Amino acid sequence: MSNEEFDVLVIGAGISGAALFYELAKYTDIKNIALIEKYSVPASLNSKGTSNSQTIHCGDIETNYTLEKAKKVKRTSDMIIKYGLLHKAENDFMFSHQKMALAVGDAEYEYMKNRYEEFRELYPYIKFFDKAKIKQIEPKVVLDKDGIGDRVENICAMGVEAGEVFTTVDYGKMSVSLIEQGQKQGKNTLVAFNQEITHIEKKDDIFILRTSHYKEYRAKAVVVNAGGHSLYLAHKMNLGMDKSCWPVAGSFYLTRQKLLNGKVYMVQNPKLPFAALHGDPDLLANMNTRFGPTALVIPKLERYHGLKSVPEFFEALRFDKVVLKVTFGMLKDETIRNYILYNYLFELPFINKHFFVKDARKIIPSLQSSDIYYAKGFGGVRPQIIDKTKGELLLGEASIMETPGIIFNMTPSPGATSCLGNAERDAKLMCEYLGANFNEDRFASELL
Ligand SMILES: Cc1cc2nc3c(=O)[nH]c(=O)nc-3n(C[C@H](O)[C@H](O)[C@H](O)COP(=O)(O)OP(=O)(O)OC[C@H]3O[C@@H](n4cnc5c(N)ncnc54)[C@H](O)[C@@H]3O)c2cc1C
Repeated sequence: MSNEEFDVLVIGAGISGAALFYELAKYTDIKNIALIEKYSVPASLNSKGTSNSQTIHCGDIETNYTLEKAKKVKRTSDMIIKYGLLHKAENDFMFSHQKMALAVGDAEYEYMKNRYEEFRELYPYIKFFDKAKIKQIEPKVVLDKDGIGDRVENICAMGVEAGEVFTTVDYGKMSVSLIEQGQKQGKNTLVAFNQEITHIEKKDDIFILRTSHYKEYRAKAVVVNAGGHSLYLAHKMNLGMDKSCWPVAGSFYLTRQKLLNGKVYMVQNPKLPFAALHGDPDLLANMNTRFGPTALVIPKLERYHGLKSVPEFFEALRFDKVVLKVTFGMLKDETIRNYILYNYLFELPFINKHFFVKDARKIIPSLQSSDIYYAKGFGGVRPQIIDKTKGELLLGEASIMETPGIIFNMTPSPGATSCLGNAERDAKLMCEYLGANFNEDRFASELL
Protein backbone atom coordinates (compact mmCIF):
# COMPACT_ATOMS: atom_id res chain seq x y z
CA MET A 1 0.00 0.00 0.00
CA SER A 2 1.50 3.38 -0.99
CA ASN A 3 0.88 6.75 0.62
CA GLU A 4 0.61 10.04 -1.20
CA GLU A 5 -0.26 13.20 0.72
CA PHE A 6 -1.80 16.32 -0.83
CA ASP A 7 -3.05 19.69 0.38
CA VAL A 8 -6.28 19.28 -1.58
CA LEU A 9 -7.57 16.14 -3.23
CA VAL A 10 -10.47 16.45 -5.68
CA ILE A 11 -12.55 13.37 -6.44
CA GLY A 12 -14.10 13.19 -9.93
CA ALA A 13 -12.72 14.46 -13.25
CA GLY A 14 -16.01 15.65 -14.71
CA ILE A 15 -16.36 19.35 -15.54
CA SER A 16 -16.83 20.28 -11.83
CA GLY A 17 -13.69 18.47 -10.63
CA ALA A 18 -11.67 19.68 -13.63
CA ALA A 19 -12.71 23.32 -13.06
CA LEU A 20 -11.76 23.15 -9.38
CA PHE A 21 -8.43 21.50 -10.17
CA TYR A 22 -7.70 24.34 -12.63
CA GLU A 23 -8.65 27.13 -10.23
CA LEU A 24 -6.74 25.63 -7.30
CA ALA A 25 -3.63 25.32 -9.48
CA LYS A 26 -3.96 28.72 -11.13
CA TYR A 27 -5.46 31.12 -8.60
CA THR A 28 -4.26 29.84 -5.21
CA ASP A 29 -0.87 29.29 -3.61
CA ILE A 30 -1.82 25.75 -2.64
CA LYS A 31 1.07 23.57 -3.79
CA ASN A 32 0.04 19.91 -3.79
CA ILE A 33 -3.17 19.12 -5.63
CA ALA A 34 -4.60 15.80 -6.76
CA LEU A 35 -7.47 14.94 -9.08
CA ILE A 36 -8.64 11.35 -8.76
CA GLU A 37 -11.00 9.75 -11.29
CA LYS A 38 -12.44 6.26 -11.32
CA TYR A 39 -12.70 5.85 -15.11
CA SER A 40 -9.84 5.84 -17.62
CA VAL A 41 -10.56 9.30 -19.11
CA PRO A 42 -11.93 12.64 -17.89
CA ALA A 43 -15.63 13.48 -18.29
CA SER A 44 -16.92 10.10 -19.36
CA LEU A 45 -20.24 10.54 -17.52
CA ASN A 46 -22.54 13.57 -17.43
CA SER A 47 -19.98 16.12 -18.62
CA LYS A 48 -19.33 14.21 -21.84
CA GLY A 49 -20.46 16.11 -24.94
CA THR A 50 -23.08 13.51 -25.83
CA SER A 51 -24.51 13.31 -22.30
CA ASN A 52 -25.84 16.85 -21.96
CA SER A 53 -27.35 19.52 -24.22
CA GLN A 54 -24.02 21.39 -24.68
CA THR A 55 -25.74 24.64 -23.75
CA ILE A 56 -24.22 27.62 -21.97
CA HIS A 57 -27.24 28.28 -19.76
CA CYS A 58 -26.89 32.00 -19.30
CA GLY A 59 -30.58 32.60 -18.55
CA ASP A 60 -31.70 34.51 -21.63
CA ILE A 61 -33.76 31.76 -23.30
CA GLU A 62 -34.32 29.53 -20.25
CA THR A 63 -37.92 30.32 -19.39
CA ASN A 64 -37.68 28.14 -16.28
CA TYR A 65 -35.37 30.80 -14.74
CA THR A 66 -36.60 33.86 -12.91
CA LEU A 67 -34.73 37.13 -13.42
CA GLU A 68 -33.00 36.55 -10.05
CA LYS A 69 -31.79 33.10 -11.08
CA ALA A 70 -30.78 34.44 -14.50
CA LYS A 71 -28.56 37.09 -12.86
CA LYS A 72 -26.80 34.37 -10.86
CA VAL A 73 -26.18 32.00 -13.76
CA LYS A 74 -25.12 34.84 -16.04
CA ARG A 75 -22.11 35.56 -13.83
CA THR A 76 -20.91 31.96 -14.00
CA SER A 77 -21.81 31.45 -17.66
CA ASP A 78 -19.74 34.53 -18.52
CA MET A 79 -16.79 32.77 -16.83
CA ILE A 80 -17.12 29.85 -19.28
CA ILE A 81 -16.82 32.30 -22.17
CA LYS A 82 -13.88 34.13 -20.57
CA TYR A 83 -12.11 30.80 -20.03
CA GLY A 84 -12.82 29.79 -23.64
CA LEU A 85 -11.48 33.08 -25.01
CA LEU A 86 -8.41 32.95 -22.74
CA HIS A 87 -7.53 29.54 -24.12
CA LYS A 88 -8.56 30.24 -27.72
CA ALA A 89 -11.36 27.70 -27.68
CA GLU A 90 -13.57 29.43 -30.28
CA ASN A 91 -14.72 26.76 -32.74
CA ASP A 92 -12.71 24.21 -30.80
CA PHE A 93 -14.92 23.48 -27.79
CA MET A 94 -16.89 26.77 -27.69
CA PHE A 95 -19.28 27.86 -30.45
CA SER A 96 -21.72 30.60 -31.35
CA HIS A 97 -25.09 29.50 -32.72
CA GLN A 98 -28.38 31.28 -33.06
CA LYS A 99 -30.79 30.58 -30.23
CA MET A 100 -34.33 31.45 -29.23
CA ALA A 101 -37.05 30.81 -26.68
CA LEU A 102 -40.17 30.08 -28.73
CA ALA A 103 -43.71 31.00 -27.71
CA VAL A 104 -46.63 29.16 -29.34
CA GLY A 105 -50.23 30.36 -29.00
CA ASP A 106 -51.73 33.58 -27.65
CA ALA A 107 -51.01 33.00 -23.96
CA GLU A 108 -47.36 32.16 -24.53
CA TYR A 109 -47.09 35.07 -27.00
CA GLU A 110 -48.15 37.53 -24.28
CA TYR A 111 -45.84 35.84 -21.77
CA MET A 112 -42.86 36.12 -24.15
CA LYS A 113 -43.51 39.79 -24.89
CA ASN A 114 -43.45 40.55 -21.16
CA ARG A 115 -40.42 38.36 -20.55
CA TYR A 116 -38.53 40.12 -23.32
CA GLU A 117 -39.20 43.51 -21.68
CA GLU A 118 -38.16 42.17 -18.27
CA PHE A 119 -34.92 40.51 -19.43
CA ARG A 120 -33.62 42.84 -22.17
CA GLU A 121 -31.70 45.03 -19.74
CA LEU A 122 -29.69 42.07 -18.44
CA TYR A 123 -29.12 40.74 -21.98
CA PRO A 124 -28.75 43.84 -24.20
CA TYR A 125 -28.12 41.72 -27.32
CA ILE A 126 -31.46 39.90 -27.06
CA LYS A 127 -34.00 40.53 -29.85
CA PHE A 128 -37.73 40.00 -30.17
CA PHE A 129 -38.45 37.78 -33.19
CA ASP A 130 -41.86 37.92 -34.88
CA LYS A 131 -43.17 35.16 -37.15
CA ALA A 132 -41.57 36.67 -40.26
CA LYS A 133 -38.15 36.85 -38.59
CA ILE A 134 -38.45 33.29 -37.27
CA LYS A 135 -39.37 32.17 -40.79
CA GLN A 136 -36.20 33.75 -42.10
CA ILE A 137 -33.79 32.23 -39.58
CA GLU A 138 -35.54 29.02 -38.52
CA PRO A 139 -37.92 28.19 -41.41
CA LYS A 140 -39.02 24.71 -40.22
CA VAL A 141 -40.42 26.23 -37.03
CA VAL A 142 -42.91 28.28 -39.05
CA LEU A 143 -44.00 25.64 -41.58
CA ASP A 144 -47.34 23.94 -40.85
CA LYS A 145 -47.77 20.20 -40.24
CA ASP A 146 -47.92 19.46 -43.98
CA GLY A 147 -44.73 21.43 -44.51
CA ILE A 148 -46.41 23.65 -47.13
CA GLY A 149 -47.94 26.78 -45.62
CA ASP A 150 -47.31 28.65 -42.36
CA ARG A 151 -48.53 27.26 -39.04
CA VAL A 152 -51.69 29.02 -37.91
CA GLU A 153 -50.80 29.63 -34.25
CA ASN A 154 -49.52 32.97 -33.13
CA ILE A 155 -45.78 32.52 -32.53
CA CYS A 156 -42.91 34.75 -31.46
CA ALA A 157 -39.54 34.31 -29.78
CA MET A 158 -36.78 36.13 -27.97
CA GLY A 159 -33.28 35.23 -29.00
CA VAL A 160 -30.08 36.13 -30.78
CA GLU A 161 -28.60 35.35 -34.16
CA ALA A 162 -25.39 33.37 -34.72
CA GLY A 163 -22.06 35.13 -34.22
CA GLU A 164 -23.23 37.49 -31.48
CA VAL A 165 -22.77 35.44 -28.31
CA PHE A 166 -21.27 32.06 -27.45
CA THR A 167 -24.00 29.52 -26.87
CA THR A 168 -22.57 26.03 -27.06
CA VAL A 169 -19.77 24.09 -25.39
CA ASP A 170 -18.46 20.54 -25.60
CA TYR A 171 -18.04 20.26 -21.83
CA GLY A 172 -16.12 16.99 -22.24
CA LYS A 173 -13.44 18.71 -24.32
CA MET A 174 -13.47 21.67 -21.96
CA SER A 175 -12.83 19.31 -19.01
CA VAL A 176 -9.71 18.00 -20.78
CA SER A 177 -8.55 21.58 -21.40
CA LEU A 178 -9.07 22.56 -17.73
CA ILE A 179 -7.03 19.59 -16.54
CA GLU A 180 -4.21 20.24 -19.03
CA GLN A 181 -4.08 23.94 -18.11
CA GLY A 182 -4.10 23.06 -14.39
CA GLN A 183 -1.12 20.79 -14.90
CA LYS A 184 0.83 23.64 -16.52
CA GLN A 185 0.77 25.95 -13.49
CA GLY A 186 4.04 24.78 -11.93
CA LYS A 187 2.39 23.07 -8.95
CA ASN A 188 2.91 19.56 -7.67
CA THR A 189 -0.14 17.96 -9.27
CA LEU A 190 -1.34 14.42 -9.67
CA VAL A 191 -4.08 13.45 -12.09
CA ALA A 192 -4.86 9.77 -11.63
CA PHE A 193 -7.34 7.66 -13.59
CA ASN A 194 -8.82 4.22 -12.89
CA GLN A 195 -8.82 5.04 -9.18
CA GLU A 196 -12.21 4.64 -7.56
CA ILE A 197 -12.34 6.13 -4.08
CA THR A 198 -14.39 3.78 -1.93
CA HIS A 199 -13.54 4.91 1.58
CA ILE A 200 -12.85 8.29 3.22
CA GLU A 201 -12.12 8.92 6.87
CA LYS A 202 -10.69 11.83 8.86
CA LYS A 203 -7.94 11.08 11.39
CA ASP A 204 -6.04 13.82 13.25
CA ASP A 205 -6.96 16.49 10.69
CA ILE A 206 -5.85 14.34 7.76
CA PHE A 207 -8.25 12.66 5.35
CA ILE A 208 -7.33 9.11 4.46
CA LEU A 209 -8.83 7.90 1.18
CA ARG A 210 -8.76 4.35 -0.11
CA THR A 211 -9.47 3.09 -3.60
CA SER A 212 -11.12 -0.14 -4.71
CA HIS A 213 -7.59 -1.45 -5.37
CA TYR A 214 -6.43 -0.66 -1.80
CA LYS A 215 -4.29 2.27 -2.82
CA GLU A 216 -4.20 4.96 -0.14
CA TYR A 217 -4.11 8.75 -0.55
CA ARG A 218 -3.86 11.31 2.22
CA ALA A 219 -5.01 14.92 2.02
CA LYS A 220 -5.45 17.90 4.30
CA ALA A 221 -8.69 18.76 2.49
CA VAL A 222 -11.02 17.00 0.05
CA VAL A 223 -13.69 18.09 -2.45
CA VAL A 224 -15.96 15.37 -3.82
CA ASN A 225 -17.31 16.26 -7.28
CA ALA A 226 -18.62 12.80 -8.10
CA GLY A 227 -22.20 13.53 -9.23
CA GLY A 228 -24.71 11.26 -7.46
CA HIS A 229 -21.78 9.37 -5.97
CA SER A 230 -20.94 12.45 -3.88
CA LEU A 231 -24.01 11.75 -1.76
CA TYR A 232 -23.20 8.03 -1.71
CA LEU A 233 -19.68 8.76 -0.37
CA ALA A 234 -21.05 11.34 2.11
CA HIS A 235 -23.54 8.81 3.50
CA LYS A 236 -20.71 6.31 3.93
CA MET A 237 -19.12 8.88 6.26
CA ASN A 238 -22.45 9.45 8.01
CA LEU A 239 -22.70 12.92 6.49
CA GLY A 240 -25.56 14.48 4.51
CA MET A 241 -28.02 12.13 6.19
CA ASP A 242 -30.74 14.78 5.74
CA LYS A 243 -30.40 14.37 1.98
CA SER A 244 -31.59 11.79 -0.48
CA CYS A 245 -31.21 11.46 -4.25
CA TRP A 246 -33.52 10.65 -7.14
CA PRO A 247 -31.34 10.09 -10.23
CA VAL A 248 -33.27 11.58 -13.16
CA ALA A 249 -32.02 10.27 -16.49
CA GLY A 250 -32.31 12.39 -19.61
CA SER A 251 -32.38 10.83 -23.09
CA PHE A 252 -32.33 12.45 -26.50
CA TYR A 253 -33.64 11.92 -30.02
CA LEU A 254 -31.52 12.81 -33.02
CA THR A 255 -32.76 13.85 -36.45
CA ARG A 256 -31.40 12.21 -39.56
CA GLN A 257 -30.50 15.60 -40.96
CA LYS A 258 -30.05 19.15 -39.75
CA LEU A 259 -33.56 20.51 -39.23
CA LEU A 260 -32.85 23.52 -37.01
CA ASN A 261 -30.16 26.15 -37.53
CA GLY A 262 -29.77 26.85 -33.84
CA LYS A 263 -31.10 26.21 -30.37
CA VAL A 264 -34.87 26.39 -30.00
CA TYR A 265 -36.17 26.30 -26.42
CA MET A 266 -39.83 26.30 -25.40
CA VAL A 267 -41.87 28.03 -22.74
CA GLN A 268 -41.67 26.19 -19.44
CA ASN A 269 -44.77 24.71 -17.88
CA PRO A 270 -44.32 26.20 -14.38
CA LYS A 271 -45.77 23.06 -12.78
CA LEU A 272 -43.02 20.81 -14.13
CA PRO A 273 -39.75 20.32 -12.28
CA PHE A 274 -37.57 19.89 -15.39
CA ALA A 275 -36.83 22.13 -18.33
CA ALA A 276 -39.12 21.77 -21.32
CA LEU A 277 -37.89 19.81 -24.30
CA HIS A 278 -35.69 21.76 -26.73
CA GLY A 279 -33.92 21.31 -30.05
CA ASP A 280 -30.17 21.87 -30.34
CA PRO A 281 -27.60 21.47 -33.12
CA ASP A 282 -25.36 18.63 -31.90
CA LEU A 283 -21.63 19.40 -32.10
CA LEU A 284 -20.87 15.67 -32.08
CA ALA A 285 -23.50 14.51 -34.60
CA ASN A 286 -22.72 16.61 -37.69
CA MET A 287 -24.79 19.47 -36.28
CA ASN A 288 -27.95 17.43 -36.80
CA THR A 289 -30.73 18.45 -34.46
CA ARG A 290 -30.90 16.78 -31.05
CA PHE A 291 -34.26 16.95 -29.25
CA GLY A 292 -34.58 16.37 -25.53
CA PRO A 293 -33.78 15.77 -22.80
CA THR A 294 -36.47 13.52 -21.43
CA ALA A 295 -36.73 13.04 -17.67
CA LEU A 296 -37.15 9.67 -16.03
CA VAL A 297 -36.23 8.45 -12.59
CA ILE A 298 -33.95 5.39 -12.73
CA PRO A 299 -32.66 3.18 -9.89
CA LYS A 300 -28.99 3.77 -10.79
CA LEU A 301 -26.51 6.58 -10.16
CA GLU A 302 -24.93 6.15 -13.61
CA ARG A 303 -26.11 5.18 -17.07
CA TYR A 304 -24.35 2.77 -19.42
CA HIS A 305 -22.17 1.12 -16.78
CA GLY A 306 -24.13 -2.03 -16.00
CA LEU A 307 -25.82 -2.56 -12.66
CA LYS A 308 -22.93 -1.62 -10.37
CA SER A 309 -24.50 1.65 -9.30
CA VAL A 310 -27.87 0.06 -8.37
CA PRO A 311 -26.89 -0.75 -4.74
CA GLU A 312 -25.13 2.64 -4.59
CA PHE A 313 -28.41 4.26 -5.65
CA PHE A 314 -30.25 2.62 -2.72
CA GLU A 315 -27.51 3.80 -0.35
CA ALA A 316 -27.80 7.38 -1.67
CA LEU A 317 -31.62 7.23 -1.63
CA ARG A 318 -32.04 5.95 1.94
CA PHE A 319 -35.72 5.47 1.35
CA ASP A 320 -37.92 6.53 4.26
CA LYS A 321 -41.18 8.28 5.13
CA VAL A 322 -39.98 11.70 3.98
CA VAL A 323 -38.81 10.44 0.57
CA LEU A 324 -42.15 8.69 0.18
CA LYS A 325 -44.04 11.85 1.15
CA VAL A 326 -42.07 14.08 -1.26
CA THR A 327 -42.56 11.56 -4.07
CA PHE A 328 -46.30 11.16 -3.46
CA GLY A 329 -46.63 14.92 -3.11
CA MET A 330 -45.34 15.24 -6.68
CA LEU A 331 -47.40 12.36 -8.04
CA LYS A 332 -50.61 13.87 -6.64
CA ASP A 333 -50.47 16.53 -9.35
CA GLU A 334 -52.02 15.24 -12.58
CA THR A 335 -49.71 17.27 -14.84
CA ILE A 336 -46.61 15.88 -13.16
CA ARG A 337 -48.05 12.34 -13.15
CA ASN A 338 -48.74 12.45 -16.88
CA TYR A 339 -45.34 13.98 -17.52
CA ILE A 340 -43.62 11.12 -15.67
CA LEU A 341 -45.71 8.51 -17.49
CA TYR A 342 -44.93 10.04 -20.88
CA ASN A 343 -41.24 10.11 -20.08
CA TYR A 344 -41.32 6.34 -19.50
CA LEU A 345 -43.11 5.88 -22.82
CA PHE A 346 -40.32 7.82 -24.53
CA GLU A 347 -37.97 4.96 -23.59
CA LEU A 348 -40.06 2.05 -24.89
CA PRO A 349 -38.73 0.56 -28.12
CA PHE A 350 -40.98 0.75 -31.22
CA ILE A 351 -43.65 3.06 -29.79
CA ASN A 352 -41.36 5.68 -28.18
CA LYS A 353 -40.79 7.78 -31.30
CA HIS A 354 -44.51 8.16 -31.93
CA PHE A 355 -45.07 9.65 -28.49
CA PHE A 356 -41.96 11.79 -28.51
CA VAL A 357 -42.58 13.30 -31.92
CA LYS A 358 -45.92 14.71 -30.71
CA ASP A 359 -44.10 16.86 -28.15
CA ALA A 360 -41.35 17.88 -30.56
CA ARG A 361 -43.97 19.05 -33.09
CA LYS A 362 -44.52 22.10 -30.96
CA ILE A 363 -41.12 23.17 -32.31
CA ILE A 364 -41.33 21.68 -35.83
CA PRO A 365 -44.99 20.99 -36.73
CA SER A 366 -44.09 18.90 -39.81
CA LEU A 367 -41.75 16.55 -37.88
CA GLN A 368 -42.44 12.86 -38.60
CA SER A 369 -41.40 9.90 -36.49
CA SER A 370 -39.30 8.71 -39.45
CA ASP A 371 -37.26 11.94 -39.15
CA ILE A 372 -35.95 11.01 -35.69
CA TYR A 373 -34.28 8.13 -33.88
CA TYR A 374 -33.54 7.39 -30.24
CA ALA A 375 -29.97 8.58 -29.59
CA LYS A 376 -28.50 5.39 -28.14
CA GLY A 377 -25.66 5.99 -25.72
CA PHE A 378 -26.51 9.69 -25.42
CA GLY A 379 -27.82 11.34 -22.26
CA GLY A 380 -26.92 11.26 -18.62
CA VAL A 381 -28.30 11.41 -15.10
CA ARG A 382 -29.19 14.47 -13.03
CA PRO A 383 -28.75 13.73 -9.33
CA GLN A 384 -31.81 15.57 -7.97
CA ILE A 385 -31.53 16.01 -4.24
CA ILE A 386 -34.35 15.70 -1.73
CA ASP A 387 -33.88 17.92 1.29
CA LYS A 388 -35.46 15.81 4.02
CA THR A 389 -35.44 18.63 6.57
CA LYS A 390 -37.54 20.84 4.28
CA GLY A 391 -39.36 17.85 2.79
CA GLU A 392 -38.83 19.03 -0.79
CA LEU A 393 -37.12 18.12 -4.04
CA LEU A 394 -34.33 20.61 -4.78
CA LEU A 395 -34.17 21.55 -8.43
CA GLY A 396 -30.66 22.97 -8.42
CA GLU A 397 -27.30 22.06 -7.00
CA ALA A 398 -26.61 20.94 -3.44
CA SER A 399 -23.51 20.69 -1.28
CA ILE A 400 -22.70 19.05 2.03
CA MET A 401 -20.22 20.95 4.20
CA GLU A 402 -20.82 19.42 7.62
CA THR A 403 -17.24 18.48 8.47
CA PRO A 404 -14.49 21.09 8.13
CA GLY A 405 -12.13 20.35 5.25
CA ILE A 406 -14.43 18.23 3.12
CA ILE A 407 -17.11 19.33 0.63
CA PHE A 408 -19.48 17.07 -1.31
CA ASN A 409 -21.14 18.59 -4.41
CA MET A 410 -24.11 17.25 -6.35
CA THR A 411 -24.54 19.16 -9.60
CA PRO A 412 -27.57 18.58 -11.81
CA SER A 413 -28.31 21.02 -14.64
CA PRO A 414 -26.98 23.68 -15.21
CA GLY A 415 -23.97 22.28 -13.38
CA ALA A 416 -21.67 22.40 -16.37
CA THR A 417 -22.38 26.09 -16.97
CA SER A 418 -21.76 26.88 -13.29
CA CYS A 419 -18.56 24.79 -12.97
CA LEU A 420 -16.18 27.77 -12.75
CA GLY A 421 -18.43 29.62 -10.31
CA ASN A 422 -18.76 26.56 -8.07
CA ALA A 423 -14.99 26.04 -8.30
CA GLU A 424 -14.42 29.67 -7.26
CA ARG A 425 -16.55 29.12 -4.14
CA ASP A 426 -14.79 25.84 -3.26
CA ALA A 427 -11.26 27.12 -4.00
CA LYS A 428 -11.89 30.04 -1.63
CA LEU A 429 -13.26 27.69 1.05
CA MET A 430 -10.20 25.46 0.67
CA CYS A 431 -7.90 28.50 1.01
CA GLU A 432 -9.73 29.60 4.14
CA TYR A 433 -9.48 26.12 5.63
CA LEU A 434 -5.77 25.68 4.81
CA GLY A 435 -4.72 29.28 5.52
CA ALA A 436 -3.74 29.71 1.86
CA ASN A 437 -4.34 32.65 -0.52
CA PHE A 438 -6.73 33.12 -3.41
CA ASN A 439 -5.43 35.54 -6.05
CA GLU A 440 -8.56 37.69 -6.45
CA ASP A 441 -6.93 40.14 -8.87
CA ARG A 442 -5.75 37.50 -11.29
CA PHE A 443 -9.07 35.68 -11.04
CA ALA A 444 -11.06 38.85 -11.69
CA SER A 445 -8.88 39.97 -14.59
CA GLU A 446 -9.10 36.57 -16.31
CA LEU A 447 -12.52 35.16 -15.51
CA LEU A 448 -14.83 38.00 -14.45
C1 LIG B 1 -29.59 15.17 -20.03
C2 LIG B 1 -28.76 16.27 -19.42
C3 LIG B 1 -28.64 17.48 -20.08
C4 LIG B 1 -27.87 18.50 -19.51
N1 LIG B 1 -27.66 19.66 -20.21
C5 LIG B 1 -26.86 20.61 -19.70
C6 LIG B 1 -26.56 21.76 -20.46
O1 LIG B 1 -26.95 21.90 -21.61
N2 LIG B 1 -25.79 22.73 -19.87
C7 LIG B 1 -25.31 22.59 -18.60
O2 LIG B 1 -24.66 23.51 -18.11
N3 LIG B 1 -25.55 21.48 -17.88
C8 LIG B 1 -26.28 20.49 -18.41
N4 LIG B 1 -26.49 19.33 -17.72
C9 LIG B 1 -25.88 19.18 -16.40
C10 LIG B 1 -24.41 18.85 -16.53
O3 LIG B 1 -24.19 17.85 -17.49
C11 LIG B 1 -23.89 18.40 -15.17
O4 LIG B 1 -24.28 19.35 -14.20
C12 LIG B 1 -22.38 18.31 -15.13
O5 LIG B 1 -21.89 17.52 -16.20
C13 LIG B 1 -21.94 17.74 -13.80
O6 LIG B 1 -20.55 17.63 -13.80
P1 LIG B 1 -19.82 16.94 -12.61
O7 LIG B 1 -18.38 17.03 -12.90
O8 LIG B 1 -20.31 17.51 -11.33
O9 LIG B 1 -20.35 15.43 -12.63
P2 LIG B 1 -20.00 14.27 -13.67
O10 LIG B 1 -19.80 14.79 -15.03
O11 LIG B 1 -21.03 13.23 -13.45
O12 LIG B 1 -18.59 13.76 -13.17
C14 LIG B 1 -18.42 13.07 -11.97
C15 LIG B 1 -17.10 12.34 -12.06
O13 LIG B 1 -16.82 11.72 -10.82
C16 LIG B 1 -16.29 10.43 -11.06
N5 LIG B 1 -16.49 9.60 -9.88
C17 LIG B 1 -17.67 9.21 -9.35
N6 LIG B 1 -17.45 8.47 -8.25
C18 LIG B 1 -16.12 8.42 -8.08
C19 LIG B 1 -15.28 7.78 -7.11
N7 LIG B 1 -15.80 7.09 -6.12
N8 LIG B 1 -13.93 7.90 -7.23
C20 LIG B 1 -13.39 8.62 -8.26
N9 LIG B 1 -14.15 9.22 -9.20
C21 LIG B 1 -15.49 9.13 -9.11
C22 LIG B 1 -17.08 9.95 -12.28
O14 LIG B 1 -16.46 8.89 -12.93
C23 LIG B 1 -17.15 11.23 -13.10
O15 LIG B 1 -16.05 11.35 -13.98
C24 LIG B 1 -27.24 18.29 -18.26
C25 LIG B 1 -27.35 17.05 -17.62
C26 LIG B 1 -28.08 16.03 -18.20
C27 LIG B 1 -28.13 14.70 -17.53
